[in-house]
Amino acid sequence: MAAALNDTPVRVTCDACCGGLARWLRLLGIDTTYEAGIDDGVLVRQALDERRVVVSCDSRLFERRLFTTGKLRGILLPVGLDIAAQLDRVVPVLAVTPAFPRCTRCNGRLESVGRSEVADVVPARTLAWIDEYYRCGACGHVFWEGTHWRRIHAVRARLGGQTR
Ligand SMILES: [Zn+2]
Repeated sequence: MAAALNDTPVRVTCDACCGGLARWLRLLGIDTTYEAGIDDGVLVRQALDERRVVVSCDSRLFERRLFTTGKLRGILLPVGLDIAAQLDRVVPVLAVTPAFPRCTRCNGRLESVGRSEVADVVPARTLAWIDEYYRCGACGHVFWEGTHWRRIHAVRARLGGQTR
């Protein structure tokens, strides 16, 4: 299946230890699965089926044959890194350029929606000053470029991508 223009072809799955990183990878437009408490065997099977790079803090996970024989790619994350350091370690290895963000909650694709379409779910004080909204095609959650977006733009710019 051909990837859409905005997609990074690299796909990732984050182990239970790196849920925060998973959200940030999604903000960078990287297709990233994450499931708290997922069994190692299930995680590895899904990664194999969906050709995902596995990010984990668990060095023992990478002793599995699938990794040692090179059938699966893994990135070992040292314990105790903050999110910025985790991103600095993972993004260059993935060699991806940040793309349009994906839903931080479920990894779904975001689509642009007009103000009138979200008036029932967005606080009135936000509607008054924000023009652009995005809805997740999978879970329906609505996002907008609030104050936290500045930090997101800064991280995206630092990692070499488009800023929006
Ligand atoms: Zn979603």
